[in-house]
Parts: sequence; C-alpha cells; structure tokens
Amino acid sequence: MNVIKLLPDVLINQIAAGEVIERPASALKEILENSIDAGATEITVQIMQGGLNLIRVTDNGKGISGIDMPLALARHATSKISAQEDLHKIASLGFRGEALASIGAVSRLLLTSYQSGDKHAWHIQAEGGQVTCPEPTARGVGTTLEVRDLFFNLPARRKFLKTETTEFAHCEEVFRRIALSHAHIAFNLQHNNKTRNHLYAVDTLQRITAVLGKEFSQSAVLVSEQANDISLQGMVALPTYSRSARDLQYFFVNGRYVRDKLISHALREAYRDVLHLDRHPAFVLYLQINPQNVDVNVHPTKAEVRFRDARAIHQFVFHSINKVLASPHRQADSQIP
Ligand code: ADP
Ligand code: MG
Repeated sequence: MNVIKLLPDVLINQIAAGEVIERPASALKEILENSIDAGATEITVQIMQGGLNLIRVTDNGKGISGIDMPLALARHATSKISAQEDLHKIASLGFRGEALASIGAVSRLLLTSYQSGDKHAWHIQAEGGQVTCPEPTARGVGTTLEVRDLFFNLPARRKFLKTETTEFAHCEEVFRRIALSHAHIAFNLQHNNKTRNHLYAVDTLQRITAVLGKEFSQSAVLVSEQANDISLQGMVALPTYSRSARDLQYFFVNGRYVRDKLISHALREAYRDVLHLDRHPAFVLYLQINPQNVDVNVHPTKAEVRFRDARAIHQFVFHSINKVLASPHRQADSQIP
C-alpha cells in the first residue's frame, strides 16, 4: 500500500495560502496588485473590521471574460506569463497565478467581473476552496473582489490575527505602499464605511505629499539620478527629519515595494556621517532597472528581489544619496517623471 499520496487540490491551496496570505493585509496586497495589472485607473478599497470581516476591492480595469472566470481562481493559472523566457523579464506585479486560488481556499470569496465584448458580467464564488460555476450578473467594465471571513476554515490561523485596529493598520500600510508607487491611479480607502483616504490621480511628487504629509516633503530633497540603464528618483528626508523607527522607508524596484538588505545597507552608509546611530532615515525612492537584471521570483510575496549586479546597485544607490545629502539644494528643480 502506498504511504506517499498526492494531496487533494483544496489542501494544496490551503498550504500555499500559508505562504502568501498571512493576514488581511496580505490578501489586500495581492488583490490591489491584480487591479493594477489589469490597468485600473480608479480603485476603491472597502474594509470592515480590519479586514477580518470583509475586504472589497472594486476596479475599472479590463475585467475578466466569462471563459476565464474559473481559471482566475485556479492555481498556477495566470494571464501574465506563458513561457520560461517571460520569467526573466517580468513587467507585471503578479505572475505566479497563486493569489486568488490561495485566498479562495481560506475565505469566502466572490469575484464579479465584466470585460467589454462579453454579453454580460459574471460572478463566481469560492468557499474554503470549493469553487462554484460562473453565473451571469450585471456590472460595468472592471472587477470587484470580495473576501469575507478570512481563515474561517483555519481556526488556528484566525486565532493569530490581531485586533481590528492592528489589522487595519497593516492594511493601511499596504495601501500606502501601493498608492506611493502608482500616483497616476485614483484610490479610495474606506474602513467601517468611513473614508480614510481619498487620493486623486496626480504626479509622483504630489502623491508622496498626499500620502506622507507636507512635513515629510518639506523636510526632504529630491533625488534624480541616472546611469546607463538604472535610474533612481524620489525624495530623501534631511537628517533633521530622522525617525526613531524605520516607519518611513519606502523603496520600490520597478514599481514594486521591496525590503532588501543590500539597499538598506547602501542607504545607511549614505546617511552614516549625518545621522545618529539610533536614528533612521526617511525616504521614498524609486529604482528603475531593466527587468532582465533583477529577479523578482525569489520569495512568494515578492518582497525580496535579487539583483544581477548587486555591487553596482549598491554603489549607485549609495553615491546618489550621498551626493544629494552633501548638497541638498543642488537638484531641487529636478522632476520625477
Ligand atoms: P497572478 O496575478 O499571479 O496572475 P492571481 O491569482 O492573482 O495570479 O490572478 C489570476 C488571474 O486572474 C490573473 O492572471 C488575471 O488574469 C485575473 N485577474 C485577477 N484579478 C483581476 C482583476 N482585478 N482584473 C482583471 N483580471 C484579474
Ligand atoms: Mg495576482
């Protein structure tokens, strides 16, 4: 008799969900990234009880056609890559085809979408991994994804979630990261039916101020550096605006928020002479690099990346920041595209 057995799909999806979906904020991140990949210009986020009860994201992106609906919830099914060579030049935020299957395995999910060209909109549900057949419904072009009762079928996991306030704070942080890196998209964030953040489509500098406040941007200097096929744009706070925590550090690689040891080190070094050891710099920086020179397929949540030429990136970041800190007003009139 076999002792090794293939696991049923529902269980496989629940295990995979453990890697990607840790709390409501991680589900929100995946759902928002899907809306962005779908080309949305307006995204509304409605959260109830810190996301423990409901996360609803409504976008005006290109939508999902009726025939694709069941595949959207299937594991390893994606519209974003199709061949091995695509892995080396990923331009979208998603590509693993795992998020919706994972979320659907550990919640009550409702996906409603309409793609122009279809006769009508469709919706499909998943509850603890059991997926229904798509049914016709009504909706304008775009997608609404509702996630209710996250981890309702994994009580051990649900128990680890924190209070409503803490979970919402995590959701807000995810929202800020996404909003900071997509200034051209209008966002609306509601919690328990109250608007918490309403952001118009603007340019990057205006978005930084809208999200992080005037105090930050008035204490910061512009960064705009270019070398070969790398560029670094953004704002770094002067040492006078240093923080006691690392709560205001945003670094994006090709529009994706990342936490990277190498980058952190380069920034710490750049601030070394001007910042006290127990203080932390505040910055919002956007690194653009040829997608072929960075591997984003390192970690399921893609929070880590691997650079092909790590040393060159380190030097570039260090020198760029070091330079503006040394003469903060030199580039005050440069523009972020
Ligand atoms: P991935 O984003 O890695 O492709 P997901 O599980 O997050 O995987 O989504 C599966 C597929 O469902 C996507 O490739 C996309 O085609 C479709 N999809 C998901 N959300 C949306 C959305 N908001 N708008 C349009 N299509 C979507
Ligand atoms: Mg996705």
